[in-house]
Amino acid sequence: MINMISEDWYEVIKEKDHLIIIKEKLDEIDSRYLTKYTNLFLIIGNKECLLIDTGCGLFPLKPIIEKFLNGKRLKVVNTHSHFDHVGGNGEFDSVFIHKNEEMFIKNNLDLTFLKEAPNTVVNRYSNINLILPPTKKINTLSGSEVFNLGGIDVGYIHNAGHSPGSISLYTDKGELFPGDLVHYGFIPLPPKDDISLMVNSIEKLITLCNEKNINEIYPSHEDYGVSKDILKDLSNYLKNIDKYWENRIPNKFNNAWEIDVGRFKLMVKVGIKERKDFRNRVKILKNE
Ligand SMILES: [Zn+2]
Repeated sequence: MINMISEDWYEVIKEKDHLIIIKEKLDEIDSRYLTKYTNLFLIIGNKECLLIDTGCGLFPLKPIIEKFLNGKRLKVVNTHSHFDHVGGNGEFDSVFIHKNEEMFIKNNLDLTFLKEAPNTVVNRYSNINLILPPTKKINTLSGSEVFNLGGIDVGYIHNAGHSPGSISLYTDKGELFPGDLVHYGFIPLPPKDDISLMVNSIEKLITLCNEKNINEIYPSHEDYGVSKDILKDLSNYLKNIDKYWENRIPNKFNNAWEIDVGRFKLMVKVGIKERKDFRNRVKILKNE
């Protein structure tokens, strides 16, 4: 692990001529998030390239990306400001992010919560004292700018729910990049009373897919290139969350209820009114 280099750490897949996928093993950084992979995406146009997210920042990402640029200009965009998506921002001259999350990458990002991670690779963060420095130059997204890469246009929509400034990006070639709003496996959700915000955002994506003829979904975690059914399916589970509520199991590290509904493991943040119930169920689990 100590001698590991970027080429060993990142898994690079040429999915299409215009789409490179860079996978980072999130469970080797902190297995408590119950998530195997973070996916970064490089979209290659005739004139420019667009990198979606910069990963955890443990190993240099830029050398991996540069191999695909062939002298083209690179733009970088964050789907949102969580550490596993903005960790490598410091390697790039400037980064786009939605205006609602500018403040999080404008300042130091505290990573001390990773101190207790069971995995030793996080020791690499001790070089920077577990503090991610601010992003050098930030370009804020506030409306409906389109990235013209030459031969490919990439648009985006604001999709709050996972975080206040989450965005989803889409190409005119039928691909959608929904960030952390939808993916298979363990999916973090707001408290039950706030889930409707998430449902609204997913419904917005369903409409977008229908309007723009989008059929392939590339989430930022776990499986990618999945069908747009993932949107309808997750939306249906969330709309009917009461039906599954009695199957909830407390997850203390994530302060969330886990509900297993098959391909999705819903992780619903504990609401204020549920705190007592949560503590009781943690106790029962411990004594079992
Ligand atoms: Zn994430």
